[in-house]
Amino acid sequence: MSTTFKIGRIAGIEIGVHWSWVFIVALITWSVAENVLTEFFPTWTDGERWIVGVIVAMIFFASILLHELSHSLVAKAKGIPVKGITLFVFGGVSQLGREAQTAGEEFQIAVVGPLTSLAIGAAFAGTWAVLRDPAPEVSAIAGYLALINAAIAAFNMLPGFPLDGGRVFRSIVWARNRDLLKATRIAAKTGEWVAYGLMAAGAVQFFFNTVGGVWLFIIGLFLRNASTSSYEQMVVQASLQGLSARAMARDAIAVPPDMPVDQLVTELMLRGRGRCYPVMSGQQLLGLVTLTDVQALVREQWAATSVFAVMTPFERLHTVAADDEALYVLQVMSEKDVNQVPVVDGQLLVGIVSRGDVMRLIQVRRAVASQPGHTGDQSDPA
Ligand SMILES: [Zn+2]
Repeated sequence: MSTTFKIGRIAGIEIGVHWSWVFIVALITWSVAENVLTEFFPTWTDGERWIVGVIVAMIFFASILLHELSHSLVAKAKGIPVKGITLFVFGGVSQLGREAQTAGEEFQIAVVGPLTSLAIGAAFAGTWAVLRDPAPEVSAIAGYLALINAAIAAFNMLPGFPLDGGRVFRSIVWARNRDLLKATRIAAKTGEWVAYGLMAAGAVQFFFNTVGGVWLFIIGLFLRNASTSSYEQMVVQASLQGLSARAMARDAIAVPPDMPVDQLVTELMLRGRGRCYPVMSGQQLLGLVTLTDVQALVREQWAATSVFAVMTPFERLHTVAADDEALYVLQVMSEKDVNQVPVVDGQLLVGIVSRGDVMRLIQVRRAVASQPGHTGDQSDPA
């Protein structure tokens, strides 16, 4: 069962709503109907207040959607594929096909969200000012929406990763020291401190007997979890930034299609030359033979069977192109549940990338980046 339901597409971007969003809509509706409107319009009936409450919650929903759309549209304009937008209890997320490749790109994609919220807030503030005399009810609601959007802008600009402000902050550090990994670490650390700050503020507020403090505390808790869990993912992404499949591909020992399986086992596999071999005819990749393929065959037949007969043929292989990004290679390996992928140029074999290679590479890059004097160069593929 999916926890997210799709509600449509805007500019080719799929919009989904996580079930937790229902809570926030209910909360906003309730808080508008029972707190805001009763204060300003004590003569309204319950029905009137709840109807307006729902309308305000829908406008709030649209405001968050516009905020996320602005991120997605700027990303698209930078050539980054956008998979979709999901709205959930703490706001929304844009699922981008890849990370920004430069600090400038990341800065623009991140900063446009809070700016959009600020612009929406300003539009409602204008409505509030203009309608104060002719329509005080509408004006009051517009004023409330102006405050909410300003609050969204302000909250998102907190310099903690993975909030927009954290991304803006990271892009600035990245632009200065040209080291994405280091910038990620600094932004994630700051994110943790911002989270603790929110939790402390929430606790203090609760102590002075405001229930809003609980909400602040929960947001702080959420932010702390998000910043630590997204950090690991960011480290992987940042470590592989700018690397192509070609740069990671290792030469593999190729075997001819007519090689008997027992020769493959005794001369290569048992001598520790690896568990995965491309089957080649000249420069052309015919398939891949692995230890698993060999194990599927009874031992008595090893001498009489060629590797060609047991290999996974080219058509059924999950391959990547030489120019594909390293992160995409990792994604293919985890989605297809394979430990290695051939890097190909058409049907010509460029090399093989294994999961172990990628993991070791991430470790090395991470270790180098935590060296105090190190200044990284993102464009360096080695
Ligand atoms: Zn945002």
